[in-house]
Amino acid sequence: MIPFNKPPHTGLEDAYVREVLAGEKMSGDGPFGQKCQEWFEQSLPAKKALLTPSCTAALEMAAFLIDIRPGDEVIMPSYTFVSTANAFVVRGARIVFVDIRPDTLNIDEQLIETAITDKTRAIVPVHYAGVSCEMSSIMDIARRHDLFVVEDAAQGMMSSYKGQALGTIGHLGAFSFHETKNYTSGGEGGLLIINDARFAERAEIIREKGTNRSQFFRGMVDKYQWVDVGSSYLPCELQAAYLWGQLEAADDINHSRLAAWSWYYENLLPLEKAGKIELPSIPDGCEHNAHMFYIKTAGLEERTALLDHLKADDILAVFHYVPLHTASAGQRFARFEGQDLYTTQESERLVRVPLWYGITPSEQSRVLESITDFYR
Ligand SMILES: *Cc1c(COP(=O)(O)O)cnc(C)c1O
Repeated sequence: MIPFNKPPHTGLEDAYVREVLAGEKMSGDGPFGQKCQEWFEQSLPAKKALLTPSCTAALEMAAFLIDIRPGDEVIMPSYTFVSTANAFVVRGARIVFVDIRPDTLNIDEQLIETAITDKTRAIVPVHYAGVSCEMSSIMDIARRHDLFVVEDAAQGMMSSYKGQALGTIGHLGAFSFHETKNYTSGGEGGLLIINDARFAERAEIIREKGTNRSQFFRGMVDKYQWVDVGSSYLPCELQAAYLWGQLEAADDINHSRLAAWSWYYENLLPLEKAGKIELPSIPDGCEHNAHMFYIKTAGLEERTALLDHLKADDILAVFHYVPLHTASAGQRFARFEGQDLYTTQESERLVRVPLWYGITPSEQSRVLESITDFYR
């Protein structure tokens, strides 16, 4: 069976994890945690980077930081993972979905402005498949309407837009280190990226249960105490140690994934030219990270048949997302502004094929043969 994904593992992680097991510090913000955060702050670069237990947690922190209150509206695509919406819903926000672009499946930047009301507080672009949203337009709209931009860059580590790393363009950004993403901190994990220095101090407090413990550890205050709202948003040192092994191999992982992605692209091109399928498109100015390889079928029926065909050949391919506005919670917590021209239609066409760090040429060939066979 060819699985859909294998969690990234380079081998470098093992010694670092053992080092934590042999030592005295296992809770958050230990030496590995600090090293990971500095790596991000320097390489992205970012004003501040804070490891979190998940991208969901990082997005929740963002909602705290921009002070989302009950009744505030937040604009985002419906074609995304539940956490993009939930992180704001738990603060009382009402979600306003707008349609996606059919080429990248990212939020259609041209539809954002008509969705803005006097209650709108933020725009949350999701960089689907690690391919950037049209950030110049989005940042321009945000500036003109005085809105915050929180980038859901869960899939976007190592991708960029006009030379800027995804997650560093908006006021705040979030990465995921879940095992299905390009880099993992041992199965679960995330990162909050702070690009607007106003949020740096409060972010540490919210992450440390509403206390100024981080300042205490730096010797800035002589005791720590409860100073604000907050929660527990620190991953443990074992997670940071695992992630450090991946950061050391970050370029290798990226090149390896890009090579596998390009191989699929070149070898599936004849099927696209024959009008059978559609392949991903990467707009000018976007450097992607090969997070995902997807193909688009003619529609739902063909998609189901293709998935079955692949399964019969022992290949696990998957689809997603069921648009959030069609889900029961979506109907409670959100509204769709304008027409759903592409969100539902494109989501029903999409098939994600197996791709992971270390997938072999023979595994990729089997996937290609099965797809080619299906369209024969
Ligand atoms: C994976 C993902 C998330 C959630 O990440 P977790 O680390 O599992 O919380 C959020 N948004 C998008 C777009 C994702 O792909």
